[in-house]
Amino acid sequence: MHSLQRISRASTSIRAFASKYEQSSSTNGFNFALSETQLEFQELARKFTRENIIPVAAEHDKTGKFPWEVIKKAHSLGLMQGHIPEEYGGMGFGVFDSSIVTEEFFYGCSGICSVFETSKLGQTPVIIAGTHEQKKKYIGRVIEEPILAAYAATEPGAGSDTNGIKTWAEKKGDEWILNGQKMWISNGGVADWYFVLARTHPDPKAPASKAFTGFIVEKQWKGVTVGRKEINMGQKAADTRGITFEDVRIPKENVLRSEGDGFKIAMETLDVTRTPVAAAAVGLAQRCLDEASKYALERKAFGVPIGQHQAVAFMLADMAVGVETARLAYLKAAWQYDQGTRNTLAASIAKSYASDVANKCATDAVQIFGGNGYNSEYPVEKLMRDAKIFQIYEGTSQIQRVVISRHILERAKSLV
Ligand SMILES: Cc1cc2nc3c(=O)[nH]c(=O)nc-3n(C[C@H](O)[C@H](O)[C@H](O)COP(=O)(O)OP(=O)(O)OC[C@H]3O[C@@H](n4cnc5c(N)ncnc54)[C@H](O)[C@@H]3O)c2cc1C
Repeated sequence: MHSLQRISRASTSIRAFASKYEQSSSTNGFNFALSETQLEFQELARKFTRENIIPVAAEHDKTGKFPWEVIKKAHSLGLMQGHIPEEYGGMGFGVFDSSIVTEEFFYGCSGICSVFETSKLGQTPVIIAGTHEQKKKYIGRVIEEPILAAYAATEPGAGSDTNGIKTWAEKKGDEWILNGQKMWISNGGVADWYFVLARTHPDPKAPASKAFTGFIVEKQWKGVTVGRKEINMGQKAADTRGITFEDVRIPKENVLRSEGDGFKIAMETLDVTRTPVAAAAVGLAQRCLDEASKYALERKAFGVPIGQHQAVAFMLADMAVGVETARLAYLKAAWQYDQGTRNTLAASIAKSYASDVANKCATDAVQIFGGNGYNSEYPVEKLMRDAKIFQIYEGTSQIQRVVISRHILERAKSLV
């Protein structure tokens, strides 16, 4: 039997939950069951990953070649448009449905699939804050063709600290003139358009809630210059670049919501997108567990498969604990968002925890592979390099803990 077919995957546990809890859910309201449609999409994403992502992952990792062929195929099957509201040609997936699909994709290659996810990140401000015209124009383009979006907030001098953003836009008649520099923008060189967060308040001391405005900026506009592709530690198929804006003229129709609403839109976006990042980290962690457990059955030391040595078996057990609990954390954060409940705390818990689990699983997978784990001929070395970024982008693990601890201390005020 092909090794991939033997892989015990996310859905095994979700399906088990499904059948076990289907009946009880009707009595106590607690429900782990995926709908038939969700199971179908999960299966479609899994099949796509097995057939189109895993076979090319190592090559893209080695060459850094951008995965247009995978993107075109995924787009033709509707796999990149699930999150788009039905009104604009998508499938109207909630965060829950999107996250299930994301986990499947990232099992295959987080470099290739971060391209899908960061395009969603760029589109989300338009989906949540755009006018009908803006959505028709920019989300419509993404539906019609396999083109990509990007999210440009970070700058050379400001990542975690949004207040440090220096890129500014000034209103001149019916236009805004944009100047400044962004850094680390995923899909920076390949996106058709960007969400750009820029300072617009004349008072440099204005609070973040008023200081920034969100704009839709097209890459081919005069004054937009894209930097070189950055050479990163992992996720090498992804395209990360700096972007410079020099007197870029933005029509006033491309302001999202209203002047001064940019920070709020950026934060609302992260409530949507942090959960799929957690799901992505779970996909990678599950892959680590599967690769390491297969190897533990095959590799022998001291006359027995290494999985029979308790130290190795317990590493696998700890990996499984992490994967299962991180999955539950992201499913809860996703469910909360779709219920209309503020999910900032749950999303930060899921993102920080799943990122740490992914890194622990990747390190332990390399350990279980021994010397082979340190070599690029085996899959786990790539997983370890790819995992690190989950603790950095979309809010570092420290920033997630800032968010979590703020919530905890706020709640504690009602306890004293
Ligand atoms: C591959 C890649 C892709 C990316 N894609 C995008 C993208 O598409 N769009 C985009 O806008 N950005 C993107 N980023 C940027 C990313 O979101 C930032 O790198 C990240 O938010 C951290 O910002 P920084 O690099 O400026 O680090 P800094 O903010 O300088 O932080 C440095 C260190 O200090 C810690 N730190 C900072 N403040 C605090 C605090 N208050 N408490 C505790 N610790 C703190 C951080 O956790 C970190 O460990 C990407 C980055 C990379 C590397």
